Amino acid sequence: MQTNHVGEFRTEYNPNWCPGCGNFGVLRSIDLAFQELGLKNEQIVVVSGIGCNGRFPHSLRAYGFHTLHGRVLPIAEGINIACPEISVVGIAGDGDAFAIGGGHVPHAARRNPDIAYIVLDNGIYGQTKGQPSPTTAIGFKTKVTPQGNQEDPLNISRLALAYGVSFLARGFPGDTNHLAHLIAEGMRHRGFALIHVLSPCPTYHDTWKEYRSKIVKIGSEHDPADSTAAMKLIEEQQRIPIGILFKQNRPTLVERLGSTREKLEFKQLISTFR
Ligand code: SF4
Repeated sequence: MQTNHVGEFRTEYNPNWCPGCGNFGVLRSIDLAFQELGLKNEQIVVVSGIGCNGRFPHSLRAYGFHTLHGRVLPIAEGINIACPEISVVGIAGDGDAFAIGGGHVPHAARRNPDIAYIVLDNGIYGQTKGQPSPTTAIGFKTKVTPQGNQEDPLNISRLALAYGVSFLARGFPGDTNHLAHLIAEGMRHRGFALIHVLSPCPTYHDTWKEYRSKIVKIGSEHDPADSTAAMKLIEEQQRIPIGILFKQNRPTLVERLGSTREKLEFKQLISTFR
């Protein structure tokens, strides 16, 4: 890393997250990742949706876009097409990204826009006071499921790999330096990088203890080009391996649009998407 001045990319805004929320570690990791990449504030745009994580753009000294629920990816893709020279970071929770916004993920994966998409998976709808989300464990009791959640959870890493993202990592805010490295690698990657963050919500779904007992770092023996090996790591039950699971180089959305984009004026390009 170039420097270790935590707070270089922080604004004065203090998000009103609950004490112990995993979001604090993610915010610190993003700050460290931006420093590791040596980017200037105006070279980054952060896009968030709705939920506790919607406050990230307010907390980071960069361009920001706090958009609608589930619409991080369409906004982020538009920014990437219009301004491919800027680093685009999308941030969404498990409900934002895989319930209301779930339909956008496979299409982002096949288009391969140059976006780092950080999905904070806390297995609950935190901001609305603890209803089950698409990743809530079966049997988990909430106020609206006093008998226990009766639906099987989605596995975000499994889905992202199956959809064909060109970069997939899984991280944990209990190790901010490691998570910062994963976010920086996702931003370095040319294409759609999904960083699945196991982020505890101690108020409604406290997974700190479980994650600390199960999480292990992926070793150097893993080949990130091997999607079958990546899926085996994702399917492990007794341990939760974190690190870079999968990485593949293929043309990005802007590279594919290449000649079209060069021939058209920006306004004409936008009109083709209407
Ligand atoms: Fe964090 Fe959960 Fe509180 Fe939201 S409700 S700020 S996710 S601890």
